[in-house]
Amino acid sequence: MSTDFFEQTIRDNLVKIKSEGRYRVFADLERIPEKFPQAIYHNKYGEAKEITIWCSNDYLGLGQDPRVIAAMTDALEKYGAGAGGTRNIAGTHHLHQILEEKLAAHHGKEKSLLFTSGYVANLTALSALSALNPIIYSDALNHNSMIAGMRYGKATKKIFPHNDVGALEKFLDADTRANPDRPKIIAFESVYSMEATLGKIKDIVALAKKYSAITYLDEVHAVGLYGATGAGMAEEVGVMADIDIIQGTMGKAIGQIGGYIAGKAEVVDYIRSIGHGFIFTTSLPPHVVAGAIAALDIIRNTPSLRSELSTQAKHLKQQLTAAKIPTMESQCHIVPVVIGSANQCKAMTDRLLMRHDIYIQPINYPTVPRGAERLRLTASPRHTDAMIATLVTALAKEWQEFQLPWLA
Ligand code: PLP
Repeated sequence: MSTDFFEQTIRDNLVKIKSEGRYRVFADLERIPEKFPQAIYHNKYGEAKEITIWCSNDYLGLGQDPRVIAAMTDALEKYGAGAGGTRNIAGTHHLHQILEEKLAAHHGKEKSLLFTSGYVANLTALSALSALNPIIYSDALNHNSMIAGMRYGKATKKIFPHNDVGALEKFLDADTRANPDRPKIIAFESVYSMEATLGKIKDIVALAKKYSAITYLDEVHAVGLYGATGAGMAEEVGVMADIDIIQGTMGKAIGQIGGYIAGKAEVVDYIRSIGHGFIFTTSLPPHVVAGAIAALDIIRNTPSLRSELSTQAKHLKQQLTAAKIPTMESQCHIVPVVIGSANQCKAMTDRLLMRHDIYIQPINYPTVPRGAERLRLTASPRHTDAMIATLVTALAKEWQEFQLPWLA
């Protein structure tokens, strides 16, 4: 096959993506630690201005916290930049051990294991489990990283409609009768971040017990934000001990990068021993781990962060409703606003940035289905009432100009 073929096909693909309005343009930002959630935005003409970020996953602003930055600076000076290898070959730092112990304790589990991202944690853990020939029951809205993990190995994948525990039970019941000895895993999330819905953790735990399945829960958008100590939604609803494997990230409320799983010692040891995404890659740099340890300590010791987040998220939702901007019903700190067209969604966010100094990234296919393109707003404890008022006024003005439907 000629190189011309590749060049032409690649060009055609890019033209198609652009014509569908889903060509991804990254906002070029410099976050300002002492002014979270403000950042400097650089446009393509070399100009810069200060803007407010309304779509960050640094949900608590801990990636900008002076205590976290101090811990990282200190570790960088003490230990240097990189980890120096894979975990097995010279790349296990004492701080990795400390963070793994802390994360295991945070979730009430025997052991935890670090990965270089939440994505890699899901991919690796679920592919290692898939090698055991299980049936995996997967919520239809599970994240791409979980789906990617289940594709490996010998697992049979059964997808149940989002949060439909009735459909899940039908699968479990039929498979238990037909094949009682086949291992079963139910894989789901606690906070579905594009829909702002909550997984039915208690119901799923009950089904898992009834049908002898194990539970794999992605708490990426809940760790730090829910539960008395910030361990997540399973802690919040009182069933953390019943979840077999909890997966989380350091890339969101912890404000760093990296992911992890926590569970029974032998399960974690198995994934550590066979997981390719764990074995064949350089481990996290010590200063990142030091930052995660500092952030985790703050999360555990500062419940007020969670109540402030909840207050500001509620306030944001109330103000949007008062301005008659139709939001999707949100059960958490994330507020999706559906625009329904990729081009309009992009045009709306461009205007918010250009005219109002507000940055919201348009969320397009394949992250959400076509026709359901949306803005995904994330409040934080440090988004003030004045920032919320500015956002809602700007959004209402543009909503009117775009002639989008208002809340009845
Ligand atoms: N799981 C879910 C539900 C996510 O939304 C994401 C990322 O957005 C991930 C896993 C991956 O986490 P990370 O960003 O740490 O790779």
